Amino acid sequence: MKAIRFHEYGGPEVLRYEDAPEPAIAPHEVLVKVKACALNHLDLWCRKGMLGITVPLPHISGSDIAGEVTAVGSIVTRITPGQRVVVSPGVSCGQCIHCLSGRDTACRAYEIVGGYRIDGGYAEYVKVPEVNILPIPEGMSFEHAAAFPLTFLTAWNMLVNLAHIKRSDEVLVMGAGSGVGSAAIQIAKLFGARVIAAAGSDEKLDKAKGLGADHGINYTGQDLIAEVRRLTAKRGVDIIFENVGGAVFEKLILVLAIGGRLVTCGATAGHLAQTDIRYLFMRQASIMGGFMGPKSDLLRIVQEMTRGTLKPVVDRVFPLQDAAEAQRAMEDRRLFGKLVLVM
Ligand code: ZN
Repeated sequence: MKAIRFHEYGGPEVLRYEDAPEPAIAPHEVLVKVKACALNHLDLWCRKGMLGITVPLPHISGSDIAGEVTAVGSIVTRITPGQRVVVSPGVSCGQCIHCLSGRDTACRAYEIVGGYRIDGGYAEYVKVPEVNILPIPEGMSFEHAAAFPLTFLTAWNMLVNLAHIKRSDEVLVMGAGSGVGSAAIQIAKLFGARVIAAAGSDEKLDKAKGLGADHGINYTGQDLIAEVRRLTAKRGVDIIFENVGGAVFEKLILVLAIGGRLVTCGATAGHLAQTDIRYLFMRQASIMGGFMGPKSDLLRIVQEMTRGTLKPVVDRVFPLQDAAEAQRAMEDRRLFGKLVLVM
């Protein structure tokens, strides 16, 4: 089969479009003919070798996959060839105390399809366990189906499970143009919160408002902290949805309301920041980290997608061969929502 692989860590130039062996399925696995695969920052971290763990090489990235089932293993019962499916990206043992209590991301065997040791969807075929297969929401295209699992799952876990979002909350969504940011805006509105979107351009803010954001702050032209204070009458926000990191992170604590929660899932602008601990205890604030989310929440998200209350946001579609160009666009933040590769 054709696939995009890298044989060494480095820039987008290490990605090679080449022949790779077709995956052989185990009795509990399903073979999916990939129709669309969305990019994530995880793909860039893996390619750069920045995760602090060894990714066996050559490696095929791609965690958000939609396609058609072509073969099933001997003990697969629920899935049949020909079905249009979307892949749930988290793979875990299914037997430990964490998996059985619905906290599969805490499983010691937790992996992400395309992430570390499992080959992903930058290829014509991918294999995944049956338990990771979900039907595509009715009427949804492969491109749109590939554009929601990882980001919506991550954003849902951060806002609902960690920050306990509720109707009266004011939520600041940082990096509102990113995949997780555009998901967070929609989820926060679904729960009735008031959303302040922050992004680096007016064009992105207009799109954020199109998704339901109540206010927008352009952090290249405006003073982010002063604007949040003005919009909240100096009270601050209840939840900060963070995925940017760097210098802005330490300032954000200053605009947390009393009892505020800062949830983060990324550090695309830098991973070191200082914290003034006094602000944390004086404001009774919390800082929490989220990584993916429980498989069960993806079922809830699919339900909302079927109802049309949440929508995947696709910015652009690239042919598989142009994966390097797509990753460059992601690195330069030239996107709103998701970039998707099609076969
Ligand atoms: Zn487990």
